[in-house]
Amino acid sequence: MLCWFCAKAARGSCRFCGRGMCEDHARFGPYLLEVHRSDSRRRAEGLVVEDALTCGACHPRPQPIPMPELD
Ligand SMILES: [Zn+2]
Ligand SMILES: [Zn+2]
Repeated sequence: MLCWFCAKAARGSCRFCGRGMCEDHARFGPYLLEVHRSDSRRRAEGLVVEDALTCGACHPRPQPIPMPELD
C-alpha cells in the first residue's frame, strides 16, 4: 500500500476512508468505535478511540447517520 498523498510506502490506513498514509501524512483523531443504546436511560453512549489513524482529508460526521433501510 502506498501513501495517498505522496506515494511513499504507507504505514497505516485511515480508519474512516481507508486511504493509505506514510508517517509524514498520518493524522490522529477520535474514532467512534461503537455506540451503545441504553433504553432505560434513553441515550446513546459511544466508545471512542482518541488517537485513531485518520488521513485529515475526509470529514467523518460526528454522529452516525440513520439508515432505516438497514434495520
Ligand atoms: Zn505521504
Ligand atoms: Zn480518511
